[in-house]
Amino acid sequence: MKVLVINCGSSSLKYELFETVSEQSLAHGIAERVVVGGGREASLRHYVAGRQPVVMKGEMPDHEVAVGYVLSALTDPEHGVISDLGEIAAVGHRVVHGGERFAESVLIDDEVIAAIEQFSELAPLHNPPNLQGIRACRRRLPDLPMVAVFDTAFHQTMPQHAYMYGLPYEFYEKYGIRRYGFHGTSHRYVSEIAAQVLAQRGIPAQQQRIITCHLGNGCSMAAVAGGKCLDTTMGFTPLEGLVMGTRCGDLDPAIVPFLAEVLDADPHEVDSILNKKSGLLGISGLTNDMRDLLQAAHEGNSRARLAIDVFCYRVRKYIGTYTAVLGGVDAVVFTAGIGENNPEIREQCLEGLACLGLHLDSERNEDPSIRGQVADVSTADSPARILVIPTNEELLIARDTAAIVVALQSA
Ligand code: AMP
Repeated sequence: MKVLVINCGSSSLKYELFETVSEQSLAHGIAERVVVGGGREASLRHYVAGRQPVVMKGEMPDHEVAVGYVLSALTDPEHGVISDLGEIAAVGHRVVHGGERFAESVLIDDEVIAAIEQFSELAPLHNPPNLQGIRACRRRLPDLPMVAVFDTAFHQTMPQHAYMYGLPYEFYEKYGIRRYGFHGTSHRYVSEIAAQVLAQRGIPAQQQRIITCHLGNGCSMAAVAGGKCLDTTMGFTPLEGLVMGTRCGDLDPAIVPFLAEVLDADPHEVDSILNKKSGLLGISGLTNDMRDLLQAAHEGNSRARLAIDVFCYRVRKYIGTYTAVLGGVDAVVFTAGIGENNPEIREQCLEGLACLGLHLDSERNEDPSIRGQVADVSTADSPARILVIPTNEELLIARDTAAIVVALQSA
């Protein structure tokens, strides 16, 4: 079955077409500068394995036009991978916020759309473009089943004591203020692979205790017991938890009104500082890109070194915290841009954690041939596994979509 996966941002649209039986990616790409009202020229970059990438330029004043470009690219006689749109069986959409309503992926209907719209209040930057993508695809491909896969869904198994903040209870009831967590599709994808590795080593699924570290531009961790998420670092918004590229992570909340006062700034300005000018960028004063930061640190830049130290310390601290949450740890997983690609950061995050049974095999950790592979970088006799697992949120969206469509067909 061919499933098209769509991930819409405010001015971008990422896509990937899968053959879900073989789990093969047929084509993927991104449309950028999709802007309401047009203006700047938009572009679509289309990639097919084994071929040169294709760039198409044009006006993309909205997501519907962008979807039109995607469908043309997929069916183009020269650059395409299918001859007819009828070959696409379903569309899977990434949706950031599913509130407390969606603990798993669902078939999209008008009621689901209304619920996603309702949760736009909780994710004003993400749910509206996600919805635009859904509506655009429904107009372009009106007969196809569509599935929503939520970033928050995997974390819905958190117990109440983990998701409640120490705020007046009525704020939870009235405004939905609680920990939701994000990156759930990634945490679920890599924890399922880690679960297979542990099962092969004789640890039954129900007993497995896994800590997943998604370290990319955005960073979060999750504590997963028997396949269920018990806690995660991101909270009401994706600002909480780890130090990220430009986001501050955990903070004394009293800093917010303090900053508002000393900077004579309104809440939006403070929010913008915490989201866009903090984290690795804010501490180093240089960059939010970990590769550039590491280079600067190696060249002796002390602020770059400090930013990396703060980043790794926070990860290490949460590995300890989640080991306590889980009552021990069987595997720590590193994924996403930094987690998958950087041995130095992995090593620093794990410093001093042999006491938890995490023994790193430094040589294996630094072996460049593990890139892009599922790799066990712990020593043979390490009590717990240290795994590097490339994430693939799009594949999980395609899998969920295919499963829902198959169930629908056999109902
Ligand atoms: P993502 O959001 O998963 O695409 O990850 C983006 C982040 O991964 C950026 O901060 C990149 O600097 C970082 N990254 C990618 N490759 C490497 C690498 N080899 N070493 C360190 N960081 C990397």
